[in-house]
Amino acid sequence: THFGFQQVPVNEKASKVADVFHSVASKYDIMNDLMSGGVHRLWKRFTIDLSAVRKGQRVLDIAGGTGDLTKQFSKLVGSEGQVILADINSSMLEVGRERLTNLGLTNNIEYVQANAECLPFEDNSFDLITIAFGLRNVTDKDKALRSMLRVLKPGGRLLVLEFSKPTNPLLEKMYDTYSFSLLPKMGQLVAGDAESYQYLAESIRMHPDQETLKDMMKDAGFVRCDYHNMTGGIVALHKGIKP
Ligand code: SAM
Repeated sequence: THFGFQQVPVNEKASKVADVFHSVASKYDIMNDLMSGGVHRLWKRFTIDLSAVRKGQRVLDIAGGTGDLTKQFSKLVGSEGQVILADINSSMLEVGRERLTNLGLTNNIEYVQANAECLPFEDNSFDLITIAFGLRNVTDKDKALRSMLRVLKPGGRLLVLEFSKPTNPLLEKMYDTYSFSLLPKMGQLVAGDAESYQYLAESIRMHPDQETLKDMMKDAGFVRCDYHNMTGGIVALHKGIKP
């Protein structure tokens, strides 16, 4: 075990993902800013705004990593509310916990090592669930979506922030060049780790596009599913409601 979080059994894809995030955890925040030119902050800001989270609510930030979203939710739900930062990876969770604790956010955040495919929470227990740049790493996405549906309260919403398919072919071409040649080089230069960033590019290309993910959410049982493209579809924010 790392840092006393409970270990979970993993399959091959999961163990690859685990290696990647153990390896990048300490450099994760700086790499995020570098690779996206800081734009990930805007994508996250938009997600927070759309979440419409209010005081006293219970929020689950699954695959929450170093806690960018949790940090904002913690301020929004106040002391009567609660935010759970859940992640499968103990290194990411530890970086997140240390970072948010250092910011003095201690009264309403809990840290849980958990797999999105089998969330260890009660049925109908969250007003909002977010998964940001996490779903593409999950082995069984359908299972994860159903697990999220189960723990949401009726009327509660799921927000999935994830890389998607650029809507313009020229942009797609440029973006492909960027992710497959520049990204691994930056990973090597800054984090001494080209392989993890090669994985990142591959996982982005493999991830379902806008309409496919929307259909997957419907199939899992979400209603009023819709999405909003950002930065020309490089990223999309999907929304679904538990009936
Ligand atoms: N949400 C954060 C953000 O937007 O900055 C972190 C995103 S990071 C790219 C992806 C995170 O997903 C990693 O922390 C990784 O450990 C986590 N993850 C991967 N597979 C997971 C799973 N099956 N269940 C829960 N978390 C998972």
